[in-house]
Order: sequence, then structure tokens, then C-alpha cells
Amino acid sequence: MLKKNEIFETDIIDYTTEGSGVCKIDGMTVFVPSTAVGDRAEVKILKVAKNYAFGKAERILTPSADRIGSDCTVSEKCGGCLFRHISYEAELRYKQKRVYDSLTRIGGIDPDVIGGIVGSDKSCHYRNKAQLPVSYDREGRVCVGFYAPRSHRVIPLDGCMLQEEIFTQAARVFVDWADKNRIPPYNETAHKGVLRHLYLRYAEKTDQLMVCVVANAKELRREKELVSELCCALPCLKTVVLNVNTEKTNVITGKACRTLYGDGYITDILCGLRFRISPLSFYQVNRDQAEKLYGIAADYASLGSEETLIDLYCGTGTIGLSMARGIKKLIGVEIIPEAIEDAKRNAAENGIRNAEFICGDACVAAEELRRRSIRPDCVILDPPRKGCDRELISTVAEMSPKRVVYVSCDPATLARDLAIFTSHGYSTVKAVPVDMFPRTGHVETVCLLSKLFSQGSTAVEFDLENIPTTKAEAKATYDQIKAYVRETTGLNVSTLYISQVKHKYGIIERENYNLGNGKAPVPTVPPEKEAAIEDALRHFQMI
Ligand code: SAH
Repeated sequence: MLKKNEIFETDIIDYTTEGSGVCKIDGMTVFVPSTAVGDRAEVKILKVAKNYAFGKAERILTPSADRIGSDCTVSEKCGGCLFRHISYEAELRYKQKRVYDSLTRIGGIDPDVIGGIVGSDKSCHYRNKAQLPVSYDREGRVCVGFYAPRSHRVIPLDGCMLQEEIFTQAARVFVDWADKNRIPPYNETAHKGVLRHLYLRYAEKTDQLMVCVVANAKELRREKELVSELCCALPCLKTVVLNVNTEKTNVITGKACRTLYGDGYITDILCGLRFRISPLSFYQVNRDQAEKLYGIAADYASLGSEETLIDLYCGTGTIGLSMARGIKKLIGVEIIPEAIEDAKRNAAENGIRNAEFICGDACVAAEELRRRSIRPDCVILDPPRKGCDRELISTVAEMSPKRVVYVSCDPATLARDLAIFTSHGYSTVKAVPVDMFPRTGHVETVCLLSKLFSQGSTAVEFDLENIPTTKAEAKATYDQIKAYVRETTGLNVSTLYISQVKHKYGIIERENYNLGNGKAPVPTVPPEKEAAIEDALRHFQMI
């Protein structure tokens, strides 16, 4: 058993999904932040949990060949980037491996269908949106920055390697104005003060900048001066907006906006279409990569002029609209009413008349479409990180589209869902990781699933044994849980142990978990394995 403050010499062998380095000491998995795969390091144990430990690299004895010097002064404190200390090529290798491991181990996907990751041409300054909390710095001057990880302490920042460079200039004008006019930052604890966030958006194709000040007030003292100083310094400034947020809340923006200058929105061009971007509307933050991602999705969807497309989780409609020209019909579904309004306006402004947008839960709306006997040729799914509901996948399969294009931001839930699709007679025929967020831990994946048609008795090529079919067992299979536990903790857990934990949570009523053969006592799950299985069940939203 490891002890706090012990020091070991060890090799970093992997990364966690949060980008922390991983090593094995005495068979135990130890997480060591800010290390790189290939480092040989002296690791001090800081905290020991049941089945893993946290450590700190005291010294890097032999640095990994992937290491580069950080080009950011606050990258260690800020938490915005995970990978400023390794080369972009090494980061892409890690992201490729993460997708590959999840899809093959959890999803049971044929490794040959997985293509090479699509890297971003820009690994710096690609973000077209910044929401910067306003605070005082140590000298008592107004500053903007980013929150330190897991805290609301603002790390002052003059320029960020991920954000559009024009944002640095805009931020300087803003803090100078606030300082000069003594406009106080908002204090969360006291619910006093005025300036909450400086919110910036930039439309790259049209070179238009939006400055939005989120304030705990309906108007700002000296707001005309702010507008004229911004206009003077920033020729690409198109609009200035005041967003009013007087609630005691963590949510950044309030509902009401007042335009101080310009039209209250900017316009960008994506996949040849014009999209209106206002403070409250969604728009992809890495425009160039979004265009590549949508291009791959369109290629996979390969829609013909007589075909119908359903775009589930459509946001403001961008993916579906980028494919709507030249097809018969597009139906988009999204749960946020404002996003649906934006989607409708986006369709109208681009002269797209064959699109229908439905506001509602994807699961409910898909079932409704199935009842209306809509027979889509292709369905696009672009769910949030938790992936799709099992019922939704059943409904999509019942609608029997020839192709399903799944765009995912979490390889583990994607892999789980692909396996469920397999049980419904769909096969994953192509998958490609796309790096939308260089230097962070996120990786996107686009997959093409194709319906397998029955040919004699060998209709489908999957292992039915391994796919849970009862309602009680919903979500992930035993193999998926085992693979997840192995990946996150390095532990091997048996089916018996998983059933014991499932039983504890009432997921299964009765199973072999307590049946001995009468001779040997039945082993019970050790605490560290129990914790790891619980973590997996939580990850797959089973508990
Ligand atoms: N396809 C869009 C947005 C994808 S983000 C694009 O590329 O821009 C995922 C979207 O799913 C979000 O807009 C979110 O609001 C929506 N969403 C989340 N849960 C949902 C649900 N249960 N039903 C429908 N939409 C949902």
C-alpha cells in the first residue's frame, strides 16, 4: 500500500481523460498532473484513495521526447489548456488512441474502420468566443481572466493562446475604461458590484467583432465612453451589447440584452451559409474545424435529391442546414426553444424552405416522427456528452434509415451507443476523430453506421450475448463496464463483482451473484473494485 509523502522513480505511461499523466507504482494507478507520456520522473505521493493515488512530479529525470516548453505564462494555474507542455503531434496521437481504445474495447468496433484523426490547422487562437470573469488583481486594478481549476478565483490574463488575438486588445480597452471610471467588478459572495463578465465573439470570415458586457445592472455608468473607446481602438467592432444579469447565479448570461452600438449581432459564414450570432445564440467555437467536421458528416450522409434527413440535437440547425440544399426534406429537433428560433431564422435567411424544426426532447420527438410514419434516409445524432437514450436508439432503428451519422464529443458514451446500434442491426462502417479543441482534453468523433440487411441466416455480425436486452440492465454491457474500469483505474473486475454492485443499486433483481457451487465460498467485491465499478455505472448513467 502506498503512503503519503513517499517518493518513487517511475515512468509516465498514459494520460487520463482529463489529461493528467498516469503511472503504475506497486500495481497501483497514480495520477500525476502536468507530466507527459515518456517522462521518467520522481513522483511524490500526495493522496491515497482506495484504488488509486494522486502524486506530484518532484523532478523530471528524463523528459519525454514529446515535451515542449509552455508558451503561456499561466498554463499551470489556469486550467484552460491540458496540453501546453507536449507537442501538438503528441496530443493528436493521444486523442487518436483514446478514440481507438474506446471504440474497440467498449464498442467492439472493427479497428479497420477507424480513420486517422483530423487535426486542426490552427492549434492556437482558434476560439471565436471568450467569456472572461471580471475581478480585481493583486494591485487592486480591474482585470479579466479565467477561473483557476475548480474555483472562482480569477487568474488575471493579458492574452490567451486559445482565444482570437483581437480579444486581448478588446479586453485591454475594457479594463482601462473600467479602471478609469471606477466601475466595480461584481462580487459573487456579496452579490454587489457591476461588471460580471466580458463576453467576446468574433466572426472570422466576415471580420466582425462583438463586445458584450454582462453586468449586474440595467445600465452602465459611462457606457457611451466605453463604446467610443472600443470603436476607436478596434476597426472590426460591429456591435456592443449590454447583457443584464442581476440574479445570484453561476449562469453567465441573463435573459435581457440591450444594444449599445450596432445591430446587436454579428454574422459569420460557415459551409457557404450565413449565420447570425447574438450573445445568446450557439455557434461553433472553432469555425474552421466545424467546417471540416460538417464536411465529413455530409460525406457520410451522402444525401440524394429525393432523400429525407432528420437532424437530432440540432442546436441552431447548422449541421442539417449545411446539407439541406439539394435534398427533399430536413427535420431538425432540439430541446432549447431559443436555439430552435435561431435555426428557423438561419433557414429563412439562407433561403432554405425544405426545413422543419421541432422543439422538444429528441426521444419524444423521434417517437412522434416515427408515429407520423416519417421514413428518413439518414439520421444525424449530435448529442451532449452523456450520449443518446437507449429508447432513442430503438426508435431511430425502428424508423430504419439506411444511414446514421453519429457526431460525438465523448468517445466512451459513443462506444456504448454504437454497441447498442449494433444490437439493432446497424454496423459502424466508418469512424474518424476530429480535433475541434486543440490543447484541451476534448475530442470529437464522427461515425457512419449502415443498416445491415438480412442475407440468409447471417443477418448481422455481432455478439448478441454481450448486448443487454432487459430493461433492468439498460445502458452498458458487462464488457463495456470492464473495459471502462480497466481504462480508468487499471483494475480488472469480474462479471460477478459487477453483478454484486448492480444488485446493491437495485439495477438487477436476482442473478448469479450470490449463487455458489456449494463448495467454495463466493468472493465479495473488494472495496477498491466496488468504487471503480460504481464510478463506471455513474459514467454510463446507470446510477
Ligand atoms: N448539432 C449542433 C449542436 C450540438 S450540441 C451543432 O453542431 O451546432 C448538442 C445539442 O443537444 C445542444 O444544442 C443541446 O441543447 C441539445 N440537447 C440536449 N439534450 C437534448 C434532448 N434531450 N433533446 C434534444 N436536444 C437536446
